Amino acid sequence: MARHFLPEAQITVVEDPAAGIVGVGEGTTPHFVHHFLDVVGIPVWLLVREAGATIKNCFRHTDWNGDGTSYHHPFDDVVTPNTNLESVHPEAPWRDGEFSFPARACERGRVLFEARLEHEEGADPIRSLHAHGVFALHFDAVRLAELLARVAEERGVRRVRARVAAFNRGPTGNVEHLFLEDGQLLDSDFVFDCTGLARAVIGKLYETPWHDASTALPCDRALPFFVEHSGPLPVYSESRAMRHGWLWTIPVQGRLGCGYVFDSRMADADTCLAELQERFGTAVRPVRTIDFSPGWFRRPWVHNCVAVGLASGFLEPLEATSIWFAVASLNELFRRELPIADEHARTAFNGWFGTLMQRGADFVHLHYLGRRRDTPFWQTFRDRTQRPEGVTAALAPDGWRNWAGDDAGRGGNPLPFAYTSWRAVAGGTYNLDRRVLAQYWDYFGLHAGWEARQAAERARIERFVERCLDHEACLRRLGARL
Ligand SMILES: Cc1cc2nc3c(=O)[nH]c(=O)nc-3n(C[C@H](O)[C@H](O)[C@H](O)COP(=O)(O)OP(=O)(O)OC[C@H]3O[C@@H](n4cnc5c(N)ncnc54)[C@H](O)[C@@H]3O)c2cc1C
Repeated sequence: MARHFLPEAQITVVEDPAAGIVGVGEGTTPHFVHHFLDVVGIPVWLLVREAGATIKNCFRHTDWNGDGTSYHHPFDDVVTPNTNLESVHPEAPWRDGEFSFPARACERGRVLFEARLEHEEGADPIRSLHAHGVFALHFDAVRLAELLARVAEERGVRRVRARVAAFNRGPTGNVEHLFLEDGQLLDSDFVFDCTGLARAVIGKLYETPWHDASTALPCDRALPFFVEHSGPLPVYSESRAMRHGWLWTIPVQGRLGCGYVFDSRMADADTCLAELQERFGTAVRPVRTIDFSPGWFRRPWVHNCVAVGLASGFLEPLEATSIWFAVASLNELFRRELPIADEHARTAFNGWFGTLMQRGADFVHLHYLGRRRDTPFWQTFRDRTQRPEGVTAALAPDGWRNWAGDDAGRGGNPLPFAYTSWRAVAGGTYNLDRRVLAQYWDYFGLHAGWEARQAAERARIERFVERCLDHEACLRRLGARL
């Protein structure tokens, strides 16, 4: 991204081969495709061929009400752009995804693409498809990191494999030199702190203040593992509520990436592994244990250093906010004409970042407010956590007005989770006040002829789903060897 926005700059990536990358984080949001890959000109087919990528239409959240059911949180689409508020009757029982094209496509294993009739020989294969909405990807994180490093090197980025042993600050407070463990000395005008959970610059060097989000998001440990997979590839990431937290399942070509996320004060790893064994019918071997602390730095940009990715903070894996927020941060930074850094730009960016993270934390918190109550983790969740103000405001009877107004006024670099997202998760966790829908119907005069409208909408969605490609067919078209 830096190479794209600063074509003349000398860019060096220093990475400690002994530390390695975190190696999880395989589910994304459409921002990864449209605000990163498309911006820097990396084709989707390259990830399909070289990083095991698959297509993602939606998040699917299972058993968060303790009854085994699932609900979908779709991305924006052009067929049912409002996940069809006009069609869901305010007094009808909640039926997940009934009027959502991405959710229906997920159930049928279809992507939101249909094949175009005309196809130019030799063109990017994605151009042979016609998209009915935005989409995200799943990928093998280790293979993707190698691929991105190779592309960066081809574009003139220097790659140094060594540990940064020390950062030398000059009289202004700026980092002027990096001392590497192998004896090299690098000069620096500007430093992106991408040191992951090591948080070497913004955290350890500058010791900037931390915003603790664990009062709202209590999970703090993850056990990632892989499961071989040969059946049809789902078109969604799944989060499944478990006894002591939740389990992610992310399909990439040839395997599922999974991980149990839990609150280490409520259960230990052995208890979670026993539950996983029950679920998979065989012992599960986690690749490692990852401890994290939900929160973020209040000033991720200090002097000539800015933290991006895990180095700037982390909520938890639910809803795949991390890569998205890293991409959003980079776009926001370059929009501010970095590296011409004055205090005004830093203050504005740091304020924007805090709002971004807070909005993300609010939305993730909402997921835990379903009806599951079978273990102390779920029974005491509401007592152990503080409900963020943003959640209270969003769930208020006039919440839809707040959210709708928000969407319209977002502009620029949008803040996350629009009205349709809140509605999907509030509906799926039985927190949607049906009066909200009633107000919406009254406001827009939707009562007349609603049955006919519903029938027409159902048929329209089915017609679109029918035209869309099967996931495997789409991946093959993009060059996968399945
Ligand atoms: C359990 C878990 C699940 C997650 N799931 C998702 C998900 O589904 N979707 C999503 O969007 N995000 C997810 N994330 C976040 C995601 O993993 C990260 O956003 C993403 O992988 C990017 O990581 P990073 O580059 O910030 O850090 P890392 O991948 O950890 O990279 C850090 C780099 O810094 C280098 N380094 C560290 N210290 C030094 C030093 N002193 N000198 C030189 N180099 C150094 C390391 O060698 C490494 O290359 C998850 C995170 C966790 C913990």
